[in-house]
Amino acid sequence: MRTSLLIHPDELSKKWIDRLADLKVTTLGLHPRGGRWAVSSLEDLLARLKTPEYRALLDYAADRGLEIAYEFHAAATLLPRDLFDRHPEYFRMDREGKRVPNWNFCVSNEEALDIVAERAAEIVRQLYRSGDRFHFWLDDGHDLACHCPECTELSASDQQLVVLNAMLRRIREDRPEARLAYLAYFDTLAVPSKVTPEPGIFLEYAPMEKYVAKGNDREERIAAEFRLIDPLLDFFGRKESRVLEYWYDNSMYSNWTKPPKSFTPDDEAVLKDAAFYREKGFRSIASFGCFLGPDYEELYGEPDFSAFGRVARA
Ligand SMILES: [Zn+2]
Repeated sequence: MRTSLLIHPDELSKKWIDRLADLKVTTLGLHPRGGRWAVSSLEDLLARLKTPEYRALLDYAADRGLEIAYEFHAAATLLPRDLFDRHPEYFRMDREGKRVPNWNFCVSNEEALDIVAERAAEIVRQLYRSGDRFHFWLDDGHDLACHCPECTELSASDQQLVVLNAMLRRIREDRPEARLAYLAYFDTLAVPSKVTPEPGIFLEYAPMEKYVAKGNDREERIAAEFRLIDPLLDFFGRKESRVLEYWYDNSMYSNWTKPPKSFTPDDEAVLKDAAFYREKGFRSIASFGCFLGPDYEELYGEPDFSAFGRVARA
């Protein structure tokens, strides 16, 4: 089983690398913060990747046998929002028919897609020692699709796939073995119905409802999310399929605010969920592991990853 823990780039340390390698985790995931930090945190990562100190850490990770992967929300970096003044047509139309530069962009605009694909290829070249699996996620949230007359026929899932296909075709000109994640959560959980994935697009399923659903219909929403797993796996194939869990996401449990809160993993859930995913046919299991770096250790000591180690060795 391929396994990965995703951490914030500023939390990377030799200790973290040794921890992953000792747990037999296969992949070190570097995940700059999303939300309103998405652009600046990705810039910060790319700046770090130019420094000899950071590169030495990643060299050490590679020496210890870890694959390196980068996973981030990239929409506003791929299509900079300051292009809106000159090219409002690149951006998405809201439900009221107004072009707005707030989330994602118009996926029917070929020029916009060309810019996005070219910038993705440019960023790939800067991802020091990255493996062949890439994760350029679109914006994070609900109802972020374009409603222009051409896009309106396409679901959020289809719109995401249009963008991923364009990026992967361009990235593969430089990296023929490249693969690109289709992030399935919230509005992109539904199987795409009008767009076919390019070879190399793989499923990355994030069971978010389990963590955010509240109210009377909570159980039903979670069950509905789980029912989509099989159709997604059938559509994208199982070979590269991956779950991205929140078992160790202490950034979420700390409400994305430092200092981190003290964290106790739910080992039973980790082992039970992992068995479920394995049975479904997933070949790779990842979890966020943010807010458990050096500052956490200073406050609370060594976090316990023993259950994830069991998943990694299974
Ligand atoms: Zn559109």
